[in-house]
Amino acid sequence: MNSLSSGISTTLASIDRPLDLSVVVPLYNEVESLPRLIAAIEASLKNTDLRYEIVCVDDGSRDGTAALLKELAIEREDLSAVLLRRNYGQTPAMAAGFKIAQGRVIVTMDGDLQNDPADIPTLYAKLDEGYDLVSGWRKNRQDDALTRLLPSKIANGIISRVTGVKLNDYGCSLKAYRAEIVEDMNLYGELHRFLPALAFIEGAHIIEVPVNHHARQFGQSKYGLGRTFRVVMDLMTVFFMKKFLTKPMHVFGMFGFASMSLGMLLGIYLTIVKLFLDQDIGNRPLLTLAMLLFLGGLQLLSFGLISELLMRTYHESQGRPIYRIREVIGSGDRRSDIAES
Ligand code: UDP
Ligand code: MG
Repeated sequence: MNSLSSGISTTLASIDRPLDLSVVVPLYNEVESLPRLIAAIEASLKNTDLRYEIVCVDDGSRDGTAALLKELAIEREDLSAVLLRRNYGQTPAMAAGFKIAQGRVIVTMDGDLQNDPADIPTLYAKLDEGYDLVSGWRKNRQDDALTRLLPSKIANGIISRVTGVKLNDYGCSLKAYRAEIVEDMNLYGELHRFLPALAFIEGAHIIEVPVNHHARQFGQSKYGLGRTFRVVMDLMTVFFMKKFLTKPMHVFGMFGFASMSLGMLLGIYLTIVKLFLDQDIGNRPLLTLAMLLFLGGLQLLSFGLISELLMRTYHESQGRPIYRIREVIGSGDRRSDIAES
Protein backbone atom coordinates (compact mmCIF):
# COMPACT_ATOMS: atom_id res chain seq x y z
CA MET A 1 0.00 0.00 0.00
CA ASN A 2 2.89 2.29 -0.62
CA SER A 3 1.00 4.37 -3.10
CA LEU A 4 -1.52 5.19 -0.42
CA SER A 5 0.97 6.27 2.18
CA SER A 6 3.08 8.31 -0.17
CA GLY A 7 -0.10 9.85 -1.51
CA ILE A 8 -0.97 11.13 1.91
CA SER A 9 2.02 13.37 1.94
CA THR A 10 0.96 14.94 -1.32
CA THR A 11 -2.59 15.98 -1.95
CA LEU A 12 -4.26 15.02 1.30
CA ALA A 13 -1.68 16.46 3.65
CA SER A 14 -2.70 20.09 3.57
CA ILE A 15 -5.67 19.51 5.90
CA ASP A 16 -4.79 19.88 9.55
CA ARG A 17 -6.27 16.76 11.22
CA PRO A 18 -4.72 14.04 13.37
CA LEU A 19 -5.85 10.94 11.46
CA ASP A 20 -5.82 9.87 7.84
CA LEU A 21 -9.25 8.32 7.75
CA SER A 22 -12.51 8.19 9.68
CA VAL A 23 -15.09 5.58 8.75
CA VAL A 24 -18.50 6.90 9.81
CA VAL A 25 -21.32 4.35 10.18
CA PRO A 26 -24.91 5.11 11.24
CA LEU A 27 -26.60 2.18 13.00
CA TYR A 28 -30.24 1.61 13.69
CA ASN A 29 -31.10 -1.84 15.00
CA GLU A 30 -28.08 -3.58 13.50
CA VAL A 31 -26.94 -5.60 16.48
CA GLU A 32 -26.13 -8.77 14.53
CA SER A 33 -24.21 -6.95 11.84
CA LEU A 34 -22.17 -4.71 14.12
CA PRO A 35 -19.37 -7.08 15.26
CA ARG A 36 -18.95 -8.44 11.74
CA LEU A 37 -18.84 -4.95 10.35
CA ILE A 38 -16.10 -3.79 12.72
CA ALA A 39 -14.09 -6.91 11.95
CA ALA A 40 -14.49 -6.37 8.21
CA ILE A 41 -13.43 -2.73 8.40
CA GLU A 42 -10.39 -3.70 10.43
CA ALA A 43 -9.51 -6.47 7.98
CA SER A 44 -9.71 -4.07 5.09
CA LEU A 45 -7.58 -1.34 6.68
CA LYS A 46 -5.01 -3.10 8.80
CA ASN A 47 -2.75 -3.81 5.84
CA THR A 48 -2.62 -0.18 4.80
CA ASP A 49 -0.46 2.37 6.60
CA LEU A 50 -3.46 4.55 7.19
CA ARG A 51 -4.08 5.88 10.66
CA TYR A 52 -7.80 5.36 10.87
CA GLU A 53 -10.70 5.37 13.28
CA ILE A 54 -14.19 3.93 13.10
CA VAL A 55 -16.98 6.22 14.27
CA CYS A 56 -20.21 4.33 14.88
CA VAL A 57 -23.35 6.31 15.59
CA ASP A 58 -26.19 4.50 17.29
CA ASP A 59 -29.38 6.16 16.12
CA GLY A 60 -31.59 5.25 19.07
CA SER A 61 -31.67 1.50 18.38
CA ARG A 62 -33.99 -0.71 20.41
CA ASP A 63 -32.31 -4.05 19.85
CA GLY A 64 -29.21 -3.74 21.99
CA THR A 65 -26.99 -2.13 19.35
CA ALA A 66 -26.18 0.71 21.74
CA ALA A 67 -25.08 -1.55 24.60
CA LEU A 68 -22.91 -3.67 22.34
CA LEU A 69 -21.43 -0.62 20.67
CA LYS A 70 -20.55 0.89 24.03
CA GLU A 71 -18.83 -2.31 25.07
CA LEU A 72 -16.83 -2.49 21.85
CA ALA A 73 -15.82 1.16 22.00
CA ILE A 74 -14.41 0.74 25.50
CA GLU A 75 -12.49 -2.34 24.38
CA ARG A 76 -11.12 -1.04 21.12
CA GLU A 77 -8.83 1.89 20.53
CA ASP A 78 -9.82 2.39 16.92
CA LEU A 79 -13.55 2.66 17.63
CA SER A 80 -15.52 5.66 18.88
CA ALA A 81 -19.21 5.42 19.62
CA VAL A 82 -21.80 8.17 19.53
CA LEU A 83 -25.08 7.19 21.13
CA LEU A 84 -27.97 9.42 20.12
CA ARG A 85 -30.82 9.87 22.57
CA ARG A 86 -33.52 8.76 20.17
CA ASN A 87 -33.98 7.70 16.59
CA TYR A 88 -33.36 10.74 14.40
CA GLY A 89 -32.79 9.14 11.01
CA GLN A 90 -29.81 8.35 8.86
CA THR A 91 -28.88 11.93 7.93
CA PRO A 92 -28.69 13.31 11.49
CA ALA A 93 -26.85 10.16 12.58
CA MET A 94 -24.27 10.75 9.87
CA ALA A 95 -23.99 14.41 10.79
CA ALA A 96 -23.30 13.41 14.40
CA GLY A 97 -20.53 11.13 13.18
CA PHE A 98 -19.04 13.89 11.01
CA LYS A 99 -18.95 16.15 14.03
CA ILE A 100 -16.54 13.96 15.97
CA ALA A 101 -14.62 12.41 13.09
CA GLN A 102 -10.96 13.41 13.10
CA GLY A 103 -9.75 12.02 9.80
CA ARG A 104 -8.54 14.04 6.86
CA VAL A 105 -10.73 11.77 4.82
CA ILE A 106 -14.20 10.69 5.83
CA VAL A 107 -15.74 7.52 4.48
CA THR A 108 -19.41 6.84 5.13
CA MET A 109 -21.04 3.45 4.82
CA ASP A 110 -24.10 1.52 5.96
CA GLY A 111 -23.92 -0.61 9.05
CA ASP A 112 -25.89 -3.52 7.64
CA LEU A 113 -22.99 -5.16 5.74
CA GLN A 114 -24.58 -4.28 2.41
CA ASN A 115 -21.57 -2.10 1.62
CA ASP A 116 -18.22 -3.85 1.56
CA PRO A 117 -15.43 -2.36 3.71
CA ALA A 118 -12.95 -3.95 1.28
CA ASP A 119 -13.76 -1.07 -1.08
CA ILE A 120 -12.54 1.60 1.33
CA PRO A 121 -8.87 1.63 0.16
CA THR A 122 -10.02 1.98 -3.44
CA LEU A 123 -12.11 5.03 -2.61
CA TYR A 124 -9.27 6.47 -0.58
CA ALA A 125 -6.78 6.06 -3.39
CA LYS A 126 -9.16 7.79 -5.77
CA LEU A 127 -9.40 10.82 -3.47
CA ASP A 128 -5.66 10.90 -3.47
CA GLU A 129 -5.72 11.42 -7.20
CA GLY A 130 -7.12 14.85 -6.48
CA TYR A 131 -10.86 14.37 -6.21
CA ASP A 132 -12.83 15.86 -3.35
CA LEU A 133 -15.58 13.29 -3.26
CA VAL A 134 -15.64 9.68 -4.43
CA SER A 135 -19.05 8.11 -4.62
CA GLY A 136 -19.71 4.36 -4.66
CA TRP A 137 -21.77 2.88 -7.45
CA ARG A 138 -23.54 -0.37 -6.61
CA LYS A 139 -23.24 -1.81 -10.07
CA ASN A 140 -24.56 -5.18 -8.94
CA ARG A 141 -27.07 -4.01 -6.45
CA GLN A 142 -28.63 -6.77 -4.39
CA ASP A 143 -32.04 -5.38 -3.53
CA ASP A 144 -35.58 -6.04 -4.59
CA ALA A 145 -36.03 -5.17 -8.26
CA LEU A 146 -39.49 -3.66 -8.20
CA THR A 147 -39.60 -1.74 -4.93
CA ARG A 148 -35.97 -0.65 -4.81
CA LEU A 149 -34.08 -0.88 -8.09
CA LEU A 150 -36.73 0.63 -10.36
CA PRO A 151 -37.58 3.67 -8.19
CA SER A 152 -33.88 4.13 -7.63
CA LYS A 153 -33.10 4.12 -11.35
CA ILE A 154 -35.76 6.72 -12.04
CA ALA A 155 -34.67 8.81 -9.05
CA ASN A 156 -31.02 8.73 -10.09
CA GLY A 157 -31.96 9.93 -13.56
CA ILE A 158 -34.06 12.80 -12.26
CA ILE A 159 -31.55 13.82 -9.60
CA SER A 160 -28.72 13.79 -12.12
CA ARG A 161 -30.65 16.01 -14.49
CA VAL A 162 -31.86 18.45 -11.88
CA THR A 163 -28.62 18.82 -9.95
CA GLY A 164 -26.32 18.63 -12.93
CA VAL A 165 -24.14 16.01 -11.21
CA LYS A 166 -24.37 12.83 -13.23
CA LEU A 167 -24.14 9.83 -10.94
CA ASN A 168 -25.52 6.36 -11.56
CA ASP A 169 -26.15 5.76 -7.91
CA TYR A 170 -26.99 8.58 -5.54
CA GLY A 171 -28.33 6.21 -2.90
CA CYS A 172 -25.08 4.37 -2.22
CA SER A 173 -23.92 5.26 1.27
CA LEU A 174 -20.36 4.18 0.62
CA LYS A 175 -18.67 7.45 -0.23
CA ALA A 176 -15.38 9.12 0.60
CA TYR A 177 -14.98 12.83 1.21
CA ARG A 178 -12.19 15.19 1.99
CA ALA A 179 -13.01 16.36 5.48
CA GLU A 180 -13.27 20.02 4.55
CA ILE A 181 -16.03 19.24 2.08
CA VAL A 182 -18.10 17.65 4.82
CA GLU A 183 -17.27 20.46 7.25
CA ASP A 184 -18.76 22.96 4.85
CA MET A 185 -22.06 21.20 4.64
CA ASN A 186 -25.18 21.64 6.71
CA LEU A 187 -27.46 18.63 6.54
CA TYR A 188 -31.22 18.62 6.93
CA GLY A 189 -34.08 16.28 6.04
CA GLU A 190 -32.64 13.28 4.25
CA LEU A 191 -30.05 15.30 2.43
CA HIS A 192 -27.23 12.83 2.94
CA ARG A 193 -27.95 11.31 -0.46
CA PHE A 194 -27.55 14.72 -2.02
CA LEU A 195 -24.17 15.33 -0.50
CA PRO A 196 -22.52 14.99 -3.93
CA ALA A 197 -24.90 17.57 -5.35
CA LEU A 198 -24.39 19.89 -2.39
CA ALA A 199 -20.65 19.40 -2.60
CA PHE A 200 -20.80 20.16 -6.31
CA ILE A 201 -22.53 23.44 -5.54
CA GLU A 202 -19.53 24.20 -3.34
CA GLY A 203 -17.22 23.42 -6.22
CA ALA A 204 -16.08 19.87 -5.40
CA HIS A 205 -14.50 17.55 -7.95
CA ILE A 206 -16.54 14.36 -7.93
CA ILE A 207 -16.07 10.88 -9.33
CA GLU A 208 -18.00 7.64 -9.11
CA VAL A 209 -16.37 4.20 -8.75
CA PRO A 210 -18.07 0.78 -8.86
CA VAL A 211 -18.27 -0.94 -5.47
CA ASN A 212 -19.52 -4.27 -4.16
CA HIS A 213 -22.98 -4.69 -2.77
CA HIS A 214 -24.46 -7.55 -0.80
CA ALA A 215 -27.97 -8.52 0.12
CA ARG A 216 -29.00 -7.71 3.67
CA GLN A 217 -28.22 -10.66 5.93
CA PHE A 218 -29.57 -9.51 9.27
CA GLY A 219 -32.39 -7.26 10.41
CA GLN A 220 -34.46 -5.39 7.87
CA SER A 221 -34.39 -2.30 5.73
CA LYS A 222 -35.57 0.86 7.47
CA TYR A 223 -37.14 2.30 4.36
CA GLY A 224 -40.08 1.57 2.06
CA LEU A 225 -41.55 3.26 -0.96
CA GLY A 226 -42.44 6.32 1.14
CA ARG A 227 -38.85 7.40 0.83
CA THR A 228 -39.37 8.29 -2.83
CA PHE A 229 -41.65 11.16 -1.90
CA ARG A 230 -39.25 12.56 0.65
CA VAL A 231 -36.43 12.30 -1.84
CA VAL A 232 -38.40 14.36 -4.35
CA MET A 233 -39.04 17.06 -1.77
CA ASP A 234 -35.37 17.15 -0.81
CA LEU A 235 -34.51 17.34 -4.48
CA MET A 236 -36.55 20.52 -4.83
CA THR A 237 -34.65 22.05 -1.93
CA VAL A 238 -31.33 21.11 -3.47
CA PHE A 239 -32.41 22.46 -6.84
CA PHE A 240 -33.27 25.77 -5.25
CA MET A 241 -30.00 25.84 -3.32
CA LYS A 242 -28.09 25.16 -6.48
CA LYS A 243 -29.76 27.74 -8.63
CA PHE A 244 -30.63 30.64 -6.46
CA LEU A 245 -29.07 30.39 -3.06
CA THR A 246 -27.11 33.58 -3.40
CA LYS A 247 -29.41 35.39 -5.79
CA PRO A 248 -33.10 34.65 -5.11
CA MET A 249 -34.16 38.05 -6.44
CA HIS A 250 -32.89 37.05 -9.87
CA VAL A 251 -35.49 34.34 -10.22
CA PHE A 252 -38.41 35.73 -8.24
CA GLY A 253 -37.70 39.21 -9.48
CA MET A 254 -37.59 38.16 -13.10
CA PHE A 255 -40.87 36.26 -13.07
CA GLY A 256 -42.48 38.84 -10.83
CA PHE A 257 -41.45 41.70 -13.05
CA ALA A 258 -42.59 39.92 -16.22
CA SER A 259 -45.94 39.05 -14.73
CA MET A 260 -46.51 42.55 -13.35
CA SER A 261 -45.56 44.24 -16.61
CA LEU A 262 -47.92 42.06 -18.58
CA GLY A 263 -50.71 42.75 -16.09
CA MET A 264 -50.01 46.45 -16.33
CA LEU A 265 -50.10 46.46 -20.14
CA LEU A 266 -53.40 44.63 -20.14
CA GLY A 267 -54.68 47.11 -17.58
CA ILE A 268 -53.68 50.07 -19.76
CA TYR A 269 -55.29 48.45 -22.77
CA LEU A 270 -58.52 47.91 -20.85
CA THR A 271 -58.46 51.49 -19.56
CA ILE A 272 -58.14 52.80 -23.10
CA VAL A 273 -61.00 50.60 -24.24
CA LYS A 274 -63.13 51.85 -21.40
CA LEU A 275 -62.29 55.55 -21.55
CA PHE A 276 -61.83 56.17 -25.26
CA LEU A 277 -63.88 53.48 -26.96
CA ASP A 278 -66.57 53.63 -24.30
CA GLN A 279 -66.94 49.85 -24.05
CA ASP A 280 -67.87 47.89 -20.94
CA ILE A 281 -64.94 45.99 -19.44
CA GLY A 282 -66.51 44.84 -16.17
CA ASN A 283 -67.32 41.34 -17.39
CA ARG A 284 -64.29 40.71 -19.56
CA PRO A 285 -62.09 37.74 -18.64
CA LEU A 286 -59.11 39.87 -19.65
CA LEU A 287 -59.73 42.08 -16.64
CA THR A 288 -59.42 39.13 -14.29
CA LEU A 289 -56.28 38.02 -16.05
CA ALA A 290 -54.75 41.48 -15.80
CA MET A 291 -55.48 41.60 -12.09
CA LEU A 292 -54.11 38.13 -11.50
CA LEU A 293 -50.91 38.83 -13.39
CA PHE A 294 -50.38 42.14 -11.64
CA LEU A 295 -51.01 40.88 -8.12
CA GLY A 296 -49.18 37.60 -8.68
CA GLY A 297 -46.20 39.52 -10.00
CA LEU A 298 -46.26 41.90 -7.08
CA GLN A 299 -46.20 38.96 -4.70
CA LEU A 300 -43.33 37.29 -6.48
CA LEU A 301 -41.34 40.50 -6.37
CA SER A 302 -41.93 40.97 -2.65
CA PHE A 303 -41.11 37.33 -2.08
CA GLY A 304 -37.84 37.82 -3.92
CA LEU A 305 -36.97 40.74 -1.68
CA ILE A 306 -37.75 38.75 1.46
CA SER A 307 -35.69 35.81 0.17
CA GLU A 308 -32.86 38.20 -0.49
CA LEU A 309 -32.96 39.26 3.18
CA LEU A 310 -33.20 35.63 4.37
CA MET A 311 -30.28 34.65 2.20
CA ARG A 312 -28.17 37.37 3.73
CA THR A 313 -29.10 36.21 7.23
CA TYR A 314 -28.26 32.64 6.21
CA HIS A 315 -24.80 33.52 5.04
CA GLU A 316 -23.91 36.23 7.48
CA SER A 317 -25.15 34.52 10.66
CA GLN A 318 -22.80 31.62 9.97
CA GLY A 319 -19.98 33.73 8.65
CA ARG A 320 -20.52 31.71 5.50
CA PRO A 321 -18.82 33.14 2.44
CA ILE A 322 -20.67 33.05 -0.87
CA TYR A 323 -17.67 31.38 -2.52
CA ARG A 324 -15.37 28.47 -1.75
CA ILE A 325 -11.62 28.62 -2.21
CA ARG A 326 -9.79 25.50 -3.32
CA GLU A 327 -6.30 26.74 -2.55
CA VAL A 328 -4.42 29.97 -1.96
CA ILE A 329 -0.91 30.17 -3.28
CA GLY A 330 1.52 32.83 -2.23
CA SER A 331 0.26 34.22 1.07
CA GLY A 332 2.27 33.97 4.30
CA ASP A 333 2.77 30.75 6.27
CA ARG A 334 0.36 28.53 4.46
CA ARG A 335 2.26 29.10 1.31
CA SER A 336 5.32 27.26 2.63
CA ASP A 337 3.05 24.40 3.81
CA ILE A 338 1.61 23.98 0.39
CA ALA A 339 4.94 24.35 -1.31
CA GLU A 340 6.51 21.65 0.88
CA SER A 341 3.81 19.08 0.35
N1 UDP B 1 -30.20 4.01 9.66
C1 UDP B 1 -30.10 4.87 10.73
N2 UDP B 1 -31.23 5.50 11.19
C2 UDP B 1 -32.45 5.29 10.63
C3 UDP B 1 -32.54 4.43 9.52
C4 UDP B 1 -31.40 3.80 9.06
O1 UDP B 1 -29.01 5.10 11.27
O2 UDP B 1 -33.43 5.88 11.09
C5 UDP B 1 -29.00 3.32 9.18
C6 UDP B 1 -29.12 1.81 9.11
O3 UDP B 1 -28.80 1.20 10.33
C7 UDP B 1 -28.14 1.46 8.01
C8 UDP B 1 -28.21 2.66 7.09
O4 UDP B 1 -28.77 3.72 7.86
O5 UDP B 1 -26.83 1.35 8.55
C9 UDP B 1 -29.04 2.40 5.85
O6 UDP B 1 -30.31 1.90 6.19
P1 UDP B 1 -30.98 0.67 5.43
O7 UDP B 1 -29.99 -0.43 5.24
O8 UDP B 1 -32.25 0.33 6.14
O9 UDP B 1 -31.33 1.33 4.03
P2 UDP B 1 -31.33 0.57 2.62
O10 UDP B 1 -29.99 -0.10 2.47
O11 UDP B 1 -32.44 -0.42 2.70
O12 UDP B 1 -31.55 1.65 1.62
MG1 MG C 1 -29.14 -1.41 3.68
